[in-house]
Amino acid sequence: MSIEQKINTLRQELRTHNYNYYVLDNPTISDYEFDIKLKELQALEEAHPEFFDANSPTLRVGGEVTKNFKTVVHKHRMYSLDNSYSLEDLKDWETRIKKMVDGPVEYVCELKYDGASINLTYQNGSLYKAVTRGDGTQGDEVTANIKTINSVPLQLKGDYPEAFEIRGEIILPYEGFIKMNEERIANGEEPYKNPRNTASGSLKLQDSAEVAKRPLDCLLYGLVGGDFDYKTHFESLEKARQMGFKVPNQIKLCQTIDDVFKFITHWDTARHNLPYETDGVVVKVNNLHQQDELGFTSKAPRWAMAYKFKAEQVSTVLNTITYQVGRTGAITPVANLEPVELAGTIVKRASLHNADQIEKLDIREGDTVFVEKGGEIIPKIIAVNFEKRPANSQPTQYITNCPECNTLLIREEGEAKHFCPNYNGCNPQIIGRIQHFISRKAMDIEGLGGETVALLVNAGLIHNYADLYDLTKAQVLPLERMAEKSADNLIAGIEASKQIPFERVLFALGIRFVGETVAKTLAKHYKSIDALSFASVLDLEQVNEIGIRIAESVVDFFSDLKNQQIINKLKSKGLQLEISADKLASQTDKLKGQTIVVSGVFHSVSRTELKKLIEDNGGKVSSSISSKTSYIVAGDNMGPSKKDKAEQLNIPLLSEDDFLKSIKS
Ligand code: AMP
Ligand code: ZN
Repeated sequence: MSIEQKINTLRQELRTHNYNYYVLDNPTISDYEFDIKLKELQALEEAHPEFFDANSPTLRVGGEVTKNFKTVVHKHRMYSLDNSYSLEDLKDWETRIKKMVDGPVEYVCELKYDGASINLTYQNGSLYKAVTRGDGTQGDEVTANIKTINSVPLQLKGDYPEAFEIRGEIILPYEGFIKMNEERIANGEEPYKNPRNTASGSLKLQDSAEVAKRPLDCLLYGLVGGDFDYKTHFESLEKARQMGFKVPNQIKLCQTIDDVFKFITHWDTARHNLPYETDGVVVKVNNLHQQDELGFTSKAPRWAMAYKFKAEQVSTVLNTITYQVGRTGAITPVANLEPVELAGTIVKRASLHNADQIEKLDIREGDTVFVEKGGEIIPKIIAVNFEKRPANSQPTQYITNCPECNTLLIREEGEAKHFCPNYNGCNPQIIGRIQHFISRKAMDIEGLGGETVALLVNAGLIHNYADLYDLTKAQVLPLERMAEKSADNLIAGIEASKQIPFERVLFALGIRFVGETVAKTLAKHYKSIDALSFASVLDLEQVNEIGIRIAESVVDFFSDLKNQQIINKLKSKGLQLEISADKLASQTDKLKGQTIVVSGVFHSVSRTELKKLIEDNGGKVSSSISSKTSYIVAGDNMGPSKKDKAEQLNIPLLSEDDFLKSIKS
């Protein structure tokens, strides 16, 4: 098989697996096998840039950065939809339609997916352009970002017209949304409000690699243009499926408006079991000829009608407002409600977000309030029923002092939330920080859970995470639900955590804005906690991917005397506060200042190992040859275009063996 054939076969295989996994939800190989094939393709493509394909499955990971999105005029305007709220509204619509068209009218019911609309253009079976709805007449071109969404086919299956457009909704399923928020909270960042805004915000991120990390999905609902031979909307959706698009299964062909209403009534409650948000049903006239006859108003098609689900809402009494203190000291006001059923669950509490929100809605204790479960996972209060306000009601006085430690709260310029600045003396902050320290992605201390941490702190046995390393079995045994065996496990778990590598210890410290990735970057750059603690803001900002916000937070952390004491204690207890000797031994400055390109196929080391070697020795790996390239480590089958470029720019080639010798010497 020629290289080109091999590349094409791999691309085709990966496309099929991708389709099975993301569109059909029915994977046929393991993730591991998929990765192996993907890596193989990546290696071949890198070695053979002449076979580049903008729609290769390897490009799903993103990397393209767009500073300003290009405005594109829609070939076919992206209309809005008219809304209806009752069976009567729908019947009125039916009467209007029947006056305008001949013969019986059939309807297709689809769910109204709640995300951001997108228009995809395909040419010769490849994704050519993706544009947001914008104002309906023109939108932003976000192709690079859309390409990273796995359920969007980059290359179609079966037969397809030369050119056509298809419309759909970019959504963020609940599961992914919740996971993203867990990570944000773990990093001390504000969680996102709801999946819809997060999805539409994602489309406008400048770095497509960031978009690739978000578990977005794309659900399609309408073909536009193109030379198709189907006669109905229902058939067109089937056609879209055959070409490889993800068209949800909850679609129904109905003969009467009463049937339409049955569909609506069913999904009004059943939608709560779907993995993503929906906010209504869209009813469309099935016959495309009839659609043409009906046409558009200035705002919406006459052949379609949205039915908006009523966001489930109940009214209940707000008993008290209390205030929670988070790990970062952020204060969240919480409404404690008279328990009430809402969308299938009993609701007792609702988030009030911040002081402004309370003031804006004039929410007071004793009020009867309307509670809604919208996109947010936690229900929210949307209004007060002023008619039911008790006569003796008093406006809510937002707290001025921390409910836990009584310290005067601060509210920084531009921040919506109040903060308790008592970093070292405020219990929930202390407990939260230790809970973060022991969590799975940080020190992963087996045998110790979040509740035990609270018990230990409240019993006065520990005051910070360094104190964990002083604990003895005799001290923990008297704690609630602590048996002989669990006490042993706890102590053993703490001991074992001394082997956790530096980068994870750094993450565990809970420095604001220092998440897992940032911790890795800092560990690699500074190599030890000592070096990091001496770094200035200016210094930190020189490190790739470190901005002013992170830099200031790091400097703040290390300038705190108490933190310095804690770190000294961790050091004396034997935690890994620098990159391990093995790792360090393999690291040198030999390639400092060198920018190196790796190209071709290698024998004694893999491409990834080679890149790691370059980085470990202080060099920088670049994927493209330019005048800044110091030299190229060239393996077999280096692509001819790379060779030409190297020759043109007079850039030396080094063989694999010579390179390895040079760094060993
Ligand atoms: P609106 O934004 O309320 O005017 O509603 C129109 C929007 O609904 C369109 O721009 C689509 O993005 C969205 N939508 C969601 N699901 C569907 C669907 N099944 N059919 C048509 N439009 C839909
Ligand atoms: Zn406090």
